[in-house]
Amino acid sequence: MDTSSMKSEPFVSRDIIDRKWVEVNVPCQTACPIQTDIPGYIEAIIHKDYEQAYMINRLDNVFPGVLGRVCHRPCEPECRHGREGLGEPVQICFLKRSAADFGMEGLAPDITPNGKKICVIGAGPAGLTAANDLALLGYSVTVIEQYEEPGGMMRYGIPQFRLPADIVQKDIKSITDLGVDIRCNTRIDSWEELDKIKADYDAVVVSGGCMLPTKFGLPGMEAEGVFWGLDFMMQANRNELEVKPQKTVVIGGGFTALDCARTSYRIGAEATTIAYRRTIDYMQFSGEEELHHLHEESIELLLQVSPLEVISENGKVTGIKLIKNEIGANGKMTPVEDSEFVIEADTVILAIGQTAEELEGVDVEDKSVPEAKGNLFLAGDFRNGSGTVIGACADGRKIGRRVHEMLSGERFEEIVEISEVQIGSLPRTREDDFIPPEKMPTIPVSARDKTAEVETGLAMSQAHNEAHRCYLCHYNFQIDLDRCIYCMKCIDVMPVDCIHLAKDISIGDDGSINYARTKNWEEVEAIAIDNDECIRCGNCLNACPVGCISVSKYHYKTVIQPVQITRNRSDAGVEVNA
Ligand SMILES: Cc1cc2nc3c(=O)[nH]c(=O)nc-3n(C[C@H](O)[C@H](O)[C@H](O)COP(=O)(O)OP(=O)(O)OC[C@H]3O[C@@H](n4cnc5c(N)ncnc54)[C@H](O)[C@@H]3O)c2cc1C
Ligand code: SF4
Ligand code: SF4
Ligand code: SF4
Repeated sequence: MDTSSMKSEPFVSRDIIDRKWVEVNVPCQTACPIQTDIPGYIEAIIHKDYEQAYMINRLDNVFPGVLGRVCHRPCEPECRHGREGLGEPVQICFLKRSAADFGMEGLAPDITPNGKKICVIGAGPAGLTAANDLALLGYSVTVIEQYEEPGGMMRYGIPQFRLPADIVQKDIKSITDLGVDIRCNTRIDSWEELDKIKADYDAVVVSGGCMLPTKFGLPGMEAEGVFWGLDFMMQANRNELEVKPQKTVVIGGGFTALDCARTSYRIGAEATTIAYRRTIDYMQFSGEEELHHLHEESIELLLQVSPLEVISENGKVTGIKLIKNEIGANGKMTPVEDSEFVIEADTVILAIGQTAEELEGVDVEDKSVPEAKGNLFLAGDFRNGSGTVIGACADGRKIGRRVHEMLSGERFEEIVEISEVQIGSLPRTREDDFIPPEKMPTIPVSARDKTAEVETGLAMSQAHNEAHRCYLCHYNFQIDLDRCIYCMKCIDVMPVDCIHLAKDISIGDDGSINYARTKNWEEVEAIAIDNDECIRCGNCLNACPVGCISVSKYHYKTVIQPVQITRNRSDAGVEVNA
């Protein structure tokens, strides 16, 4: 889009109605736990500006390379393109990866040190996001990590065939380039050590993750050949796994279970089965493609079954007894009477979750656990229980902000920048609505070993096509009714059912405009653009003879508020409340 004709500086709105407009009309951004400016970076890709697309991601979610591969993508089911009759959602995550693949470059911020010191314990995504944000604010940040390399579960949980170690390293380098000091091979083991750190630093963030497998008692589980899922993956990722399974059964339905199964396939198992107690809807994986990869790798998915007992002979696993479950309408699971059966196995992997290590004085199982105790803050999976990478980043950001608010007295606030745009031609046309989703290229099944990355990334031309599918929902087309002459030229050129003659207009609390359609001129109160239908083609804008249709770009962001400033959209000036 030609933004050279953009009018002056964006208008900064603190009006809740504008915030609500973004929330309702840009559903992908609203669904992203860290509120990444998704249409912003997709628009940059349309313009083949991958550096800009990368930079938007780098600032918003810190780990574009990692998240472009393994994010669980809560944004995609919310995408407008996936709504009934409109086709498939935009593949937002693949585009994030393209931004990192083609546009990664270092940040070169102008940081003014503020003289304060922060210690972060645990170099996973939560701790590193807090470290990144605090470093950008001028804090001197030291991260303490028990393992040889930083990254937490991005490095030692998720296998390399989904997330290569060098991608994790590159994303982390972009944080250490800001001056963040990561001290590896250092474990904080006692409350006394923590007390000392608390005294030495202005604030301490504990983001130790969920490093223990969730254990449960299963008869026979002491037999040789039974593993906890997390231990299995950690050993595999450290090249310490010595087992050579022939027939593996993995119990569980989350990231760890799927990774254990795919690893088992890669280390030579002839048959691998995932046994999960519920339906596929309850499983957690990073995208639909992963189910396809399971199928390609001959991994069987057995749903609605629970383990009853590990069977063994001479102390070695020979199988596992399972029972079928029925799932009621309310989601309640009931074992089916007399439905027990046995699967042969020499390896059983129990992957039903992870929990946090205990920290004296803090009950991490208690969901009401406070974010902070004095200058000690908790973040990520350590505080919230086992979750996702983007969830950990979002929590790291939230806690980093709490730290800054405590140490500086400044506050963060949400604003919407509104830029008026004069557009000669928009980058979208009706034809773009029919571009099919691009397929992620993969390596052949025969080449799938422990490290080779399965998904190789969209080619640049594919990324460009995929980006063109996006409706660019952050563009708001509006009609100035005082100037409209009701000539209907805009309706004549609309490519979809997007502009209506309206009656019974009311404005909801959230700023939404509600109306009934009419064709009876006696009843017409206004002519209205339906944002849900608008495909941002610009036809109406170009057709209007009196120029009463305008388009503006809405950009939600959070800024630091050093003094309290309020401004209503109708105000010409800025009010400063001291
Ligand atoms: C096998 C597996 C696959 C996964 N796949 C995905 C996926 O595809 N997509 C997704 O979104 N999420 C996935 N997850 C979940 C995701 O990785 C985690 O939710 C996320 O990494 C949590 O981030 P965190 O920073 O809170 O903790 P972690 O990533 O666990 O990092 C915690 C860090 O703290 C360090 N630490 C702990 N205690 C101490 C101590 N006492 N002293 C010093 N250092 C310490 C640890 O060594 C670790 O580096 C997966 C998890 C696993 C286990
Ligand atoms: S069409 Fe684009 S901007 Fe709209 S919800 Fe989907 S990804 Fe987001
Ligand atoms: S830009 Fe105008 S004509 Fe095009 S889809 Fe939106 S409202 Fe309709
Ligand atoms: S083209 Fe312009 S003036 Fe004519 S009906 Fe549409 S908005 Fe009103």
